[in-house]
Amino acid sequence: MIISMRPHAPKAEIDYVCERIREFGYKVHSIEGEERVVIGVVGVGDVTNCLESLEATPGVERAVRISAPYKFVSKEFKKEHSQMRVNGLEIGGDEFIVMAGPCSVESERQIMETAEAVAAAGAKILRGGAYKPRTSPYDFQGMELDGLKLLKKAKAATGLLIITEVMSDRDVEMVADYADIMQIGARNMQNFALLKSLGRCGRPVLLKRGLSATIKELLMSAEYLVAHGNSNVLLCERGIRTFETATRNTCDISAVPVLNELSHLPVILDPSHAVGKRSLVPAISRAAVAVGADGLIVEVHPCPEKAVSDGAQSLTVPQFRNMMQELKPYISLWKESRAREVAAAV
Ligand code: PEP
Ligand code: MN
Repeated sequence: MIISMRPHAPKAEIDYVCERIREFGYKVHSIEGEERVVIGVVGVGDVTNCLESLEATPGVERAVRISAPYKFVSKEFKKEHSQMRVNGLEIGGDEFIVMAGPCSVESERQIMETAEAVAAAGAKILRGGAYKPRTSPYDFQGMELDGLKLLKKAKAATGLLIITEVMSDRDVEMVADYADIMQIGARNMQNFALLKSLGRCGRPVLLKRGLSATIKELLMSAEYLVAHGNSNVLLCERGIRTFETATRNTCDISAVPVLNELSHLPVILDPSHAVGKRSLVPAISRAAVAVGADGLIVEVHPCPEKAVSDGAQSLTVPQFRNMMQELKPYISLWKESRAREVAAAV
């Protein structure tokens, strides 16, 4: 169950509701938003009786039964699609947001050149890994703090926001000093210490779907972030592992509408890791717009053949520019359908 308190309900009312929930034998998990407190009710007991009683308790606006194992991220909890505001930019609203940049931050010249080019082509957020999760310990592991500093410089020069990966709970505070959005990589989707730490940190998070994770597992990981206090979560489909070898991963394009049906959180598609091959990225990006994703995260490199990671799937700058042009008519249709959805919801 989820109990949503009235905006600015006094503490005494909130405490009383929590006391009543405990009397019914449940555990209480409350989240304090800017306007209201939302209380998650966990455990086994007489749901109907408890709901009826709480609905009649002062200060309670809504008491709802949730059947999915994830509560706060579910559509049952919140019917309207969520918007995430991050330093003046809205994701999940009426703009289709493109994040772009290299797989890894490699040098000042590389990141500045890419940042300027993707900004001019219409991207709003610069991606770039300073900490890299690599399958081989002998591969490039990232520039770490120096990479974060270069991202900050690129942000100052272009006004782009920054998304970068954080791999360990020990690095959360440091990465949060530089990143507008913290990326949880596919390999860390079930790193529960990291999820808890990013939950407490509160900085917006892009959570990537694990290599072999089900949609339910992705949503349970998102639930960790929200249950630990951070509701600024973007879900990201980046391809899953299947028997197919023609592409690096299999892009589960249906994950986008499935997630939109199950959850209110915005959904971002990563076409680069999903297919692993630059020639396929524009087609998958068009598909992402068509199925109702809220945005894309795309790898772009000024000279992909020299990239230290993921060169084969990185678009060149002219290819990215072309793709952004080609996406325009698709994004116009996306906007029309988004406006219809918003109108139908009110
Ligand atoms: C990346 O974004 O470069 C990355 C490592 O992605 P993923 O975690 O999806 O493999
Ligand atoms: Mn990459």
